[in-house]
Amino acid sequence: MQVTYFLWETPETKDYLYPMRFDGQVRAKKHLGQHFLKDESIAERIAAVVPFEGVEKVLEIGPGMGVMTKYLLKNPSIETWVIEIDEESVSYLQANYNQLSARILQEDFLKWNPSKTFEDAPFALIGNFPYNISSQIVFKVLEERHQIPLFGGMFQKEVAKRLCAPPGNKTYGILSVLCQAYYDLTYDFTVPPTVFNPPPKVESGVMHMVRKSKDPDISFALLKRGVKAAFGQRRKTLRNALKVLNLPVGFDHPYLSKRAEQLSHAEFVELLNAIEDGRTQS
Ligand code: SAH
Repeated sequence: MQVTYFLWETPETKDYLYPMRFDGQVRAKKHLGQHFLKDESIAERIAAVVPFEGVEKVLEIGPGMGVMTKYLLKNPSIETWVIEIDEESVSYLQANYNQLSARILQEDFLKWNPSKTFEDAPFALIGNFPYNISSQIVFKVLEERHQIPLFGGMFQKEVAKRLCAPPGNKTYGILSVLCQAYYDLTYDFTVPPTVFNPPPKVESGVMHMVRKSKDPDISFALLKRGVKAAFGQRRKTLRNALKVLNLPVGFDHPYLSKRAEQLSHAEFVELLNAIEDGRTQS
């Protein structure tokens, strides 16, 4: 087919001049981590991965063209909100999902303030997440955990596996410990690249987490600082890796001869609290 461009158009500027493709679909933008799911049954399974109990609202990060959103909207007992950074996706959603229009936030999830939208109401957070900001999304969930009892969705498979990995596993890391301290995690299923448009280079994994009834007995800031220090030098013993925390003089503990990946979240809490106690006593 012969394509005719106006004078000021070139094949490159055409995308810029016409944000929406002629067939009305959103064009995938790499810098926004856009890989659109084309398999309806997988979209439906992900939309149901979180047990919506004790919440009346769900927020979907990055709905794109709404492939999962339409299944959320079928659930009458839950109020569906979406947050999407991409203007083109937002205009697609506004044109195609009338009933959603007042609940579309055109914003960067990482800069969004939950209380501005939901005051202090709890909400579930789900999505087929943009993989380029996976860790930042999970850190934000941890910061806002008091309002987010339920979280789940799709990441790059390694990331989903890492979050759920038990201690002793070489993929066990900072976010595994922090998530497991506050939530019960489940790895749900693996998704091949072929069900996306465009296909990502990696396999994907779906996981979900449910907040525990009780927070561990430690401040989040202290736990985060200690776990980061421990995994910052994961091959060293904790005695060496935790030197950056300025261990109290004469402090000793059986866990100090272990390495970061050998400690469960509960053991991290125990060790870091013992260090703090040692500090106040010395
Ligand atoms: N849920 C859709 C799209 C997934 S791709 C589907 O499954 O087909 C990831 C989506 O996240 C894209 O729509 C992208 O625009 C959006 N996104 C990327 N960064 C974002 C951010 N910081 N805040 C909100 N949405 C973001």
